[in-house]
Amino acid sequence: MKKRILVTGGAGFIGSHLCKRLLEEENEVLCLDNYFTGKKTNVLPLLKNPYFELVRHDIMNPYYAEVDEIYNLACPASPIHYQYDPIRTINTSILGAINVSGLAHRVKAKVLQASTSEVYGDPKIHPQPESYWGNVNPIGLRSCYDEGKRCAETIFMDYHRQYKIKCKIIRIFNTYGPNMHPKDGRVISNYIVQALQGKEITVYGTGQQTRSFQYVDDLLEGMIRMMATEDNFTGPINIGNPGEYTMLELAEVVLRLTGSRSKIKFLPLPPDDPVQRKPDICLAKEKLNWEPRIALEDGLKETIAYFKKIL
Ligand code: NAD
Ligand code: UDP
Repeated sequence: MKKRILVTGGAGFIGSHLCKRLLEEENEVLCLDNYFTGKKTNVLPLLKNPYFELVRHDIMNPYYAEVDEIYNLACPASPIHYQYDPIRTINTSILGAINVSGLAHRVKAKVLQASTSEVYGDPKIHPQPESYWGNVNPIGLRSCYDEGKRCAETIFMDYHRQYKIKCKIIRIFNTYGPNMHPKDGRVISNYIVQALQGKEITVYGTGQQTRSFQYVDDLLEGMIRMMATEDNFTGPINIGNPGEYTMLELAEVVLRLTGSRSKIKFLPLPPDDPVQRKPDICLAKEKLNWEPRIALEDGLKETIAYFKKIL
């Protein structure tokens, strides 16, 4: 029996890879998106598959469909995009969580929420385990995203406790790969596009802040394994690659792999930019038998090849 799976935000970077993977695993996929940051072209190759359906819908409004599983990804993820219309961002997270939980309750579907490492804010504990409650500024420029995602976790857990919905929360750490928008604004796509176009590489602040980057295929494996866990396991669970790099180190790797002669240009650090980030993935290893397999350089090579093709 094919499963019917709803992917909100399915035309975005991660969502488009997820839709493809779920179709390859012989499921029926309903992809819902309002195209704020996603593009139809990301899922164009899937449209010829009769088990794929694309729906324009804004998750701030309720949606009704008979489905077995829901992956809730709808939300802009890049700081420039989520700060463009912060009220819309927080509404998307919160109303989206309410609408998706309501749907999961009504049709008894299992739901996986794409939460984020941003719930840890500017962390005072390093690396970050799931038990850490975080250090988030509730009134800053990033709060519409961070607090929206924190509140969404609350909504899913309350629906789980009150209405017994089957929910799974994953905290995704910085993820990259093909299908990122060239103007996405996140660091890996910025650096690669700048390097390929011979423009200056924009390093914010001193470039000493760190992030841990996972390739999208590793994330998909973690998501699918999480969805398959027993019904009473909700997480939250970190899905990320513990390899930690400064933004200056990352710039040097991108310059080397692209063979670019671009120079580095230092720009001011955006407010509330977390100083360090690295997942503790013990829980994912234990519960999902999962750990990332793709090394940064290998993932970057794939991503560079994608941007060479589309630019
Ligand atoms: P993305 O911006 O490429 O994808 C988000 C998708 O959601 C887009 O297609 C967008 O059009 C859609 N969307 C936004 N608001 C919507 C709304 N109101 N109704 C319907 N669709 C809407 O970003 P992504 O990197 O693919 O992120 C996907 C999810 O994963 C997001 O929820 C994000 O918070 C989460 N996440 C991503 C990362 C990462 O590093 N990429 C890290 C942590 C969490
Ligand atoms: N960054 C940078 N140059 C860029 C874009 C981002 O130095 O062109 C930095 C940014 O300040 C942050 C890190 O790279 O410290 C990761 O930023 P991104 O927006 O990719 O993700 P997030 O801050 O949400 O983890």
